[in-house]
Amino acid sequence: MNPIPPYLRDALVRDYGETLAAEITAGFVSRRPVTLRLNPLRGDPAETDALLRAAGLDPQPVSWYPDARILPDADEKAVEALPLYAQGRVYLQSLSAMLPPLLMPLKPGMSVLDMCAAPGGKSTQLAALSGGQIDLTCCERDPLRAERLRHNLQVQGARRAVVMNTDARQLDPMFRFDAVLLDAPCTGSGTVLLGEGIPPRRMEPAWVQKTVKTQKALMRKAIAVLKPGGTLVYATCSVLREENEAVVQTALDAGLTPEPIPEVLRSAIPALPTALPEVLCVRPTSLYEGFFAACLRKPLS
Ligand code: SAM
Repeated sequence: MNPIPPYLRDALVRDYGETLAAEITAGFVSRRPVTLRLNPLRGDPAETDALLRAAGLDPQPVSWYPDARILPDADEKAVEALPLYAQGRVYLQSLSAMLPPLLMPLKPGMSVLDMCAAPGGKSTQLAALSGGQIDLTCCERDPLRAERLRHNLQVQGARRAVVMNTDARQLDPMFRFDAVLLDAPCTGSGTVLLGEGIPPRRMEPAWVQKTVKTQKALMRKAIAVLKPGGTLVYATCSVLREENEAVVQTALDAGLTPEPIPEVLRSAIPALPTALPEVLCVRPTSLYEGFFAACLRKPLS
């Protein structure tokens, strides 16, 4: 078992106290089951379930999302080798990572910006949730990851989507979107795996501070390009308050207001205590990665 990085251990104790920090650390287990989303844009979900079963898999439902499946004892590589995977009928995704798009109120014809979009898990999910009826702008800074994003959008049948290979902080402030998803680059503190062969990434104060600075700059741009009355979802795969609630606080200071987390999610998902209301910080467990999501509304004037 790899040791937890000292900075992360101290930060968890600072943010949550000894008892919860120990519970979070216990959640950094070695392997979670493979999970995926059925993609209704590429085939009837019941048919895809049948194909998965025919391939010897045992897709299990998830109470809070009809398209999510848990595949007990499955191997990701085996799923990737199936024809239904190449056909875009499924998208491999952690359950926690499926949460942010579910917080976005999608309506046909909406313009939606996914600010940090590669490899496209949430962009393709937004396309699927809207039945392909929204106009998606998918921004990604890294050129190779932007290529991967283009590929995934195509395979998953997300037709009304354009990719911008640019730093989202440099987006023209004249843009206006009905909704923005900011799935921010983060330390990944929620996804640490202590049982794997590879030790978790070094986590040091200077790196965390630099990451927070980027998150706050991205948040400022997200607010600038959001239409009045529009919705902004902020997410990270970190459990550190400085990357989550502190960044959301900057949006609240700018006048945005929190939207409620749907009860169907609140009641089913293991959560950590938060100082802010109406945000969701997922506790790492043997099923869920640590994750954070909040939905905010920009005032009309
Ligand atoms: N939303 C993606 C998904 O669901 O598949 C995962 C996004 S990952 C957490 C963060 C992404 O943001 C990375 O692909 C990273 O290259 C990109 N990124 C980092 N800084 C960025 C920036 N300033 N502008 C745009 N993209 C950025």
